[in-house]
Order: sequence, then C-alpha cells, then structure tokens
Amino acid sequence: MQSSSRLSLSTLILTCAFQFAASQTVALTNPGKDVPSVAPQHFVCNTGYSAQECHEQMAVLRPLLDNYGAGRLGDWTWVLVKSDDWKALQRSHRMDPDSPAFSVLGRRETFFEEAPVSPVTLRRIELVRQWSLGTDDLLKLAVTHELGHALCNEKNERKADVYGEMLRRGEAVQCK
Ligand SMILES: [Zn+2]
Repeated sequence: MQSSSRLSLSTLILTCAFQFAASQTVALTNPGKDVPSVAPQHFVCNTGYSAQECHEQMAVLRPLLDNYGAGRLGDWTWVLVKSDDWKALQRSHRMDPDSPAFSVLGRRETFFEEAPVSPVTLRRIELVRQWSLGTDDLLKLAVTHELGHALCNEKNERKADVYGEMLRRGEAVQCK
C-alpha cells in the first residue's frame, strides 16, 4: 500500500464506451434494511453467481459505493462479474484484462470483477501484483475511478482519475 504512490493513475485504463449485454443475471431483490431507499440503484450479479455469493460480494462493494456518494447518481446499475468470465469479456472488447472495473455511461452501468470483493485468491494475487496495491486499496481505486466517470459523465481516463482522487481525499468533486 505504501507503494501505491508509485502507481501512475493515468495507467488505469478502464474503458468506458462499449455495449455489454448482461444476460442471465442474478438480481438482488432484497437489498436489506440498512440501505437507504432514496436512490433507485440496482445491484446485479452476472451469470454464474448463486444468490448467496451475490449477497456476500455486494455486501463488500455496497458500503464502499455508499461511502463515496454513489447514491447521488440516482438511477444506476452496478454489476458484479465472475473472475472466470472477466478476462474473456475484457479481451473480446479489446480492453485491458487487468482492469477490475469499467463503466458504460450511456447505459448508466458499472461492472466490477469479483476478485477484489471475494476470496478468489489466484486472481487477487495477480491483480495485487499488477497494480502494486493491496486488495482494499485496489477496490477503493476502482470504485472511486468509476465514480469519477459516472458522477461527471466523463469518458476521459485522466479526468476520471482526478475526480476519483478527489473522492478518496474526501473532497467534493468538481466536474470540469
Ligand atoms: Zn476509466
């Protein structure tokens, strides 16, 4: 985690502009009592999830989204994807398979690979090596970077990095 300062955030290439058909999804129909009901957000797990796994992994992701103000987006869909499916999905769209998240702004959807929120140990180790970040920091980086895209409807990677950093510092994001 100390080495995170060495990481150039501009290398975080999380492509954001392609169409992805999330089929055969597991919807979380009971989001829980502790979730504010103001934002009509949707939390979905892609093909391959059991309802139990979906709940467990969303329980890791959602507090982070809440913490960084994802509710401000209003209607938005957050999708978790199994690590077994992630690389093929990324490659098929010519995206960096080592990026753990991406957003499709036009559809108001953000996709996260499961590895940072689940005990998929081999893939976790791979990501930690690739990014020189601990799992928690990698997840925070992915969440804030994608929120940078989403909150400002911004496709530019550098700007999303800047907005994400503002969020991590606890600052209000000023879209430019
Ligand atoms: Zn990005």
